[in-house]
Amino acid sequence: MSEQIKAVSLISGGMDSALATALIQDQDIKVISLIFITGFDAAETRPFIFNPEVDPQELPLKSRKAADRINSEYRILDIRNDFWRLIKNPPNGYGSGYNPCMDCRIFMLKKAKEVMKELGASFIITGEVLDQRPFTQNMQSLRRIDKLAGVKGLVLRPLSARLFDQTIAERKDWVDRNKLLAIHGRRRTVQHKLASRYGLLHITSAGGGGCLCIDPYFGKKAADLFLNTDKEGLDKDDFEWLKFGRHFRLSPQAKLVVGRDWVESDHIERLSRKTTAKLLSPRDNQESKAALQGNTSEQDVQTALAILTGYLRPQREQHPIWLIENGKKELYWTNARSKEDFIDFMI
Ligand code: SF4
Repeated sequence: MSEQIKAVSLISGGMDSALATALIQDQDIKVISLIFITGFDAAETRPFIFNPEVDPQELPLKSRKAADRINSEYRILDIRNDFWRLIKNPPNGYGSGYNPCMDCRIFMLKKAKEVMKELGASFIITGEVLDQRPFTQNMQSLRRIDKLAGVKGLVLRPLSARLFDQTIAERKDWVDRNKLLAIHGRRRTVQHKLASRYGLLHITSAGGGGCLCIDPYFGKKAADLFLNTDKEGLDKDDFEWLKFGRHFRLSPQAKLVVGRDWVESDHIERLSRKTTAKLLSPRDNQESKAALQGNTSEQDVQTALAILTGYLRPQREQHPIWLIENGKKELYWTNARSKEDFIDFMI
């Protein structure tokens, strides 16, 4: 008896990659789903902020739920140590914001090829749909991505396969091309019909929709960081700060990050200890801590304290706030100000 053909599938937690995987499983191919942890998915980021030491294998991932739903085995691949470098310096440039989508896809496909070989699988599946996204899913970009990732002919995109050249899986008759689809563009009528057939209607349309890199506020914060620092000197922690909080630019050298709740404030305290940032910790309120970063003047400190008072509850005339730097604490009694007074500092 011949051995069952295996494939690996890049699964995002969105509907398209789940459908693409299910379509190939229906052709008697054993598919192992690959779940990438970038550290920049909005839903995943929260548990990491809560506890940076959390094991990615333990996270309640939407992609794992999607894999379970289609009865696919999965592998979790933690790429957090590589992903921030792609945002810092994507060789193929950014998308419409600070999203390194082209290089992200190349990186993930390279990894998928490694895992494919390791598992004795024969090809790679993705849920991409031709022309669904302007930057990475047009014919030219997809060909370029496959070429740069070294996976030409290996990547089967079942939802649009009949619009592409035949891949190895089709040429070798591992999969029947006639059972693959020719979806094109952003309309989702066919996907919804299929999702209904597979019981996947509850899954959101696009898994990538949770990526912080395409969030406009993240883009603003990244633009501000790149404008005011030597980009080459940035490290992983500089990108960690971009994932949360309200950001204020006080001067080219000084930036303030204010926590929006106790989870973010806890993370601000942790990151401040790890970096050179000064911690602003209200004596009577643990929910709104802030970090003052950079080479700051006394004026920057005063402005940062004043901004922070706008977020402290209950309102008072003066707020006692600890300024903590290198373990040294100083208490500042700061007159309360309104948030609106500092709107121009907001990034
Ligand atoms: S949206 Fe995020 S995860 Fe998706 S390809 Fe772009 S950078 Fe990668």
